[in-house]
Amino acid sequence: MTSEDRPRVVVLGAGPGGYAAAFQAADLGMDVTLVDDAPQPGGVCLYRGCIPSKALLHVASLIQETRASSEWGVSFGEPKLDLPKLRDWKQGVVDKLTRGLGQIARGRHVTYMQGRGYFEGPNRLRVRSDGEISEVEFDYAIVATGSLSAIPQVLRLDSPRVMDSEAALELEDVPETLLIVGGGYIGLELGTVYSALGSQVTVVEMTNGLLPGADRDLVEPLQRRLKREFRDIFLNTRVSALEEVEGAIRATFQGEGEPDNHDFSRVLIAVGRTPNTQRLGLENTQVRLDERGFIRVDGARRTDEPSIFAIGDVTGEPMLAHKATHEGRVAAEAIAGMPVASEPAGIPAVVFTDPEVAWCGLTEAQAIDRGIDVAVSRFPWAASGRATTMGTREGLTKLVIEPSTERVLGIGITGHGAGELMGEAVMAIEMGVRVSDLHLAVHAHPTLAETLMEAASLYFGHSPHYLGRQTRG
Ligand code: NAD
Repeated sequence: MTSEDRPRVVVLGAGPGGYAAAFQAADLGMDVTLVDDAPQPGGVCLYRGCIPSKALLHVASLIQETRASSEWGVSFGEPKLDLPKLRDWKQGVVDKLTRGLGQIARGRHVTYMQGRGYFEGPNRLRVRSDGEISEVEFDYAIVATGSLSAIPQVLRLDSPRVMDSEAALELEDVPETLLIVGGGYIGLELGTVYSALGSQVTVVEMTNGLLPGADRDLVEPLQRRLKREFRDIFLNTRVSALEEVEGAIRATFQGEGEPDNHDFSRVLIAVGRTPNTQRLGLENTQVRLDERGFIRVDGARRTDEPSIFAIGDVTGEPMLAHKATHEGRVAAEAIAGMPVASEPAGIPAVVFTDPEVAWCGLTEAQAIDRGIDVAVSRFPWAASGRATTMGTREGLTKLVIEPSTERVLGIGITGHGAGELMGEAVMAIEMGVRVSDLHLAVHAHPTLAETLMEAASLYFGHSPHYLGRQTRG
């Protein structure tokens, strides 16, 4: 390809979707410009989402483990927190990774432009940076602008005590009491962090269970644990108003939950995220949104404007970094003329709480909703040798099986390190594994991965370490 026929590609947004798309396009020989507000690629995930939260969750898990270890005959003193040092460490992790991405971009000859992009038409982007304006002409663009915290009107209060996830990750202090509105991914992960650091955490969730998208049996061990760790968990409850009072935020509750004290040192609002499509100039193109405000795309990530593709959170649920990365690759390959579509058999979801809750493929609840006849095999971690040696018997491994074909349609795991165990689950779902394959595959003993094999063996009625049988869903 000569430099004249190299397609000029602009990627707007440099999160895990955008940078993956840009790097793939560059590897395919295209002339790529990557545009983002931040000094380096990384997006919400690296700067103020997945990565800093996981750094803090690692610390939380260490604190929890030192507390648990007194039962194993090893006692540590109460942890002494050096918040500035903890913040520096977290920032160091972010800086290392984002700097690394900047180097990779340069190494791939991707032009990185720090600034805000605005579509002036289907082949032109205006980039504003520090008051300076540049015009970038392109053959193709990929919109990867992600999502923003959704803050309901009634909870909008201009006070540093009211935080979104980004502010909570700044770890300004460890509030004595923390009210978390929303019992989803962010609420429970950050609740875990603040609780381990010493805050009394109250979670308010409007539905009748935490993590509404996950199967109830997977959530149960986590909910039991959090009931012990947190001060209160109120289900079927909303916060209908917030007001600033002397040194606190006063919350009005609506529904089943009623706290002893309505005043909280800080409040975290984590009720979901909304696609970031505003002020991008999309109205100057044929790009269209669906009824929920996500950019409409086909399997190859093409929007209604032939020159513009879109990937990641801005195109719909699940809003997960790894989904965006996958779609980024597909979009770049589609631009290169390859016959591709993004059709993963399963996208893993991992909630990094303690225990972790993770699933991939069809959930049991989805099977019931869709009228699919499934069998369910559950292996409790109390019967796992490895889990017992680690003092983490709260958990289960669950297979959702189609009896007529014996194919495993979904896998759910709750327990220590469930997120890492999803690696095998993803492979199983993606390869269309049969339950007999998992049953016959020799897994190392003693490991937590054995629980996948044991759940499969249970389907055939003979797990060596557990007497029960599978139950029909
Ligand atoms: P979420 O959708 O996971 O949870 C929001 C929760 O708030 C839901 O349970 C919902 O029922 C509840 N809710 C909504 N309105 C409410 C109200 N007025 N009062 C009380 N409860 C209310 O959203 P999130 O936790 O904000 O996270 C946003 C997205 O970010 C997630 O969907 C996920 O895709 C992504 N994320 C992923 C990870 C991860 O992969 N580990 C971590 C954090 C965030």
